[in-house]
Amino acid sequence: MESTDRRIRSIVIVGGGTAGWMTAAALAQALQGSCRIELVESEQIGTIGVGEATIPPIKLFNQTLGIDENAFLAATQGTFKLGIEFVGWGRAGHRYFHPFGQIGAEFDKVPLHHYWLRERSRGDTSALEDHSLAWVAARDGKFTLPSTDRRQVLSTLDYAYQFDAGLYAAFLRRYAEARGVRRTEGRIVCTDLRPDDGFIERVRLDGGAAIEGDLFIDCSGFRGLLIEEALHTGYEDWRHWLPCDRAVAVACEHDDTFAPYTRSTAHEAGWQWRIPLQHRVGNGHVYCSAFTDEDTATRVLLENLTGKPRGTPRPLRFTTGRRRRFWHRNCVAIGLSAGFLEPLESTSIHLIQTAITRLLALFPDRDFDAVTTAEFNRLTGAEYERIRDFLILHYHANTRDEPMWRHVATMEIPEPLAYKLAHFRGHGRLVAESLELFQNPNWLAVMVGQEVWPERHDPLADLRTGVDAASRLASLRQVIAEVAAAMPTQREYIDRHCRAQVAEATMEP
Ligand SMILES: Cc1cc2nc3c(=O)[nH]c(=O)nc-3n(C[C@H](O)[C@H](O)[C@H](O)COP(=O)(O)OP(=O)(O)OC[C@H]3O[C@@H](n4cnc5c(N)ncnc54)[C@H](O)[C@@H]3O)c2cc1C
Repeated sequence: MESTDRRIRSIVIVGGGTAGWMTAAALAQALQGSCRIELVESEQIGTIGVGEATIPPIKLFNQTLGIDENAFLAATQGTFKLGIEFVGWGRAGHRYFHPFGQIGAEFDKVPLHHYWLRERSRGDTSALEDHSLAWVAARDGKFTLPSTDRRQVLSTLDYAYQFDAGLYAAFLRRYAEARGVRRTEGRIVCTDLRPDDGFIERVRLDGGAAIEGDLFIDCSGFRGLLIEEALHTGYEDWRHWLPCDRAVAVACEHDDTFAPYTRSTAHEAGWQWRIPLQHRVGNGHVYCSAFTDEDTATRVLLENLTGKPRGTPRPLRFTTGRRRRFWHRNCVAIGLSAGFLEPLESTSIHLIQTAITRLLALFPDRDFDAVTTAEFNRLTGAEYERIRDFLILHYHANTRDEPMWRHVATMEIPEPLAYKLAHFRGHGRLVAESLELFQNPNWLAVMVGQEVWPERHDPLADLRTGVDAASRLASLRQVIAEVAAAMPTQREYIDRHCRAQVAEATMEP
C-alpha cells in the first residue's frame, strides 16, 4: 500500500550562482534539516559573475538568515547603496536620482509632491530630490544607518548593498554547507523524466553519477537546463519593449571615494552601470545589438570608466522576458532560468529572493497540486510584469535624439503603464497596486526624473490655502541638509564597521 506520508524528502538545486546559493541557504534555514538538500554546480561552466547592485528588501533576506550585516559586507567587499543616479536618461546632459526611502516627510494629508508641483508652477526651482535624505547624503558621499524613530528625518532613509557577486555566493555557500546542504561538483548532461507523468526523476552527471529528488530547483542560469531544456515550458520575449540584449562588463580601479550609490549613464544605444565596491568598481555597458555592435559598445564602455580597467571586457547576451511557467510539475525555476529584466533597477537578485519566499509560502508535498503551482506562477508573472513596466518608463519617457531612443519613445507601451502615465500626466497622481515592488515614491522619482510633467497638480492642494507649503518645503530641505552634514562619509562608516580584511578578492567583474 502506498505511504500516506507525502512530504518532500529531497530537494535538488541545479546551479551554484547567486540564485542557487541563495536558495540553498534559505531552504536550509527554513527546513532545518527535515529534508535532504543537494546542490549541483559545475566550475567548468561557471556563473554569470555579474549582479552586484541590490534594492532595500535584500536586508530582510539576510536578516531572516540571521546574517550579521557588518560581517557580510566585510566578506563580500560590500558597500551601501542609497539609490541610483541616472545620467542623460530623459535627455542628454540631464541627471536625476532615484532614492531609496521616502521623498520628503508628510506634513499634510496631501502627498508632498503635489505641494512641490504647486510651488514649482509658482516659480520654485528646488529639485524634488532635494527633499530626499538619501539623495543629499549620496551626493555628499555620506552614510549612516537609518533611525527607527519615525519622528526623525533620519528614519526616512533606506538603503541596499553593492557587493561582489562571487563573494556573496561563496558566503552563502559556507552558510548553507554549515547547515547540511550537500554540494556536488559536476556537469549535468541529461535529465530523466518519469514516463507516466513527465515529472523530473533524476539528473545525470558527466561521469555517470545520478541524483534523484522529489523537488528540483532550476538555478542553472539563462539556459534553463530543467525548466526549458527538459520541460520545454517556453519563453515570453519582451524585447519589443526592452530591446537591449547584450552587455559588456569590466571592473576598474577605485577612486577611493566609495560613492554610496549606483550610477546609470545613458549612451547612444544603451546605458552604462557603475557600481563602487570596496576593492574595485564594477562597470558594464548594456546595449541594443540592433543599434550598435560589440566593438563600439566596448569602446564606449572603456572610454567612460572612472579608473584603469582591470581585466578584459567580457561580453554577455540575454533576452529580456520571462519563462511562460516558472513552476512546472516538480520543477521551480529561480534566477536567470526564470527570466531576465535588465539590471536598470537592480531587480534580479530581488526576484530570486521573492521566488524563494513564495516557494516557502506555497511549499508543496509530493502531489504538487495544480492550484499551488498556478498561484506561484500567477504571482511571479505579475511581479515580472510590474517591474517590466517600471523599466520601460525609463526608456519611453525620453527626448533624446538617437535612433534607439526615438524608437523606445514612440513604441507602443503595455496598457498598465499607459494607465499609470495617464494618471500622472493628468493630476500628478500615482496609482499602484499594493503588491507592486516599486511603490509611489519610486514611480514619482522616475516620472519626475524623466520629466513627465503633470498638466495640473492635485486640486486638493489648491483648496488647502492655509498650508504654507513653500516655507515647509524649505525647512524640510534645511533639516535634510543638516542631518546629511552630520553623517559620516561612507568611507568612514565602512572603515569603522565593515572594512574587508583582504583588499584583493576577485579581479573579475
Ligand atoms: C549584464 C548583467 C548585469 C546584471 N546586474 C545585476 C545587478 O546589478 N543586480 C542584480 O540584482 N542582478 C543583476 N544581474 C542578474 C544577476 O547576475 C543574476 O540574477 C544572478 O547572478 C543569478 O544568476 P543565476 O544564479 O540564476 O545564474 P548563473 O550565475 O549563470 O549560475 C548558473 C549556475 O548553474 C550551473 N550550471 C549550468 N549548467 C549546468 C550543468 N549542465 N551542470 C551543472 N551546473 C550547471 C553553473 O555552473 C552555475 O553555477 C545582472 C545580469 C546581467 C546579465
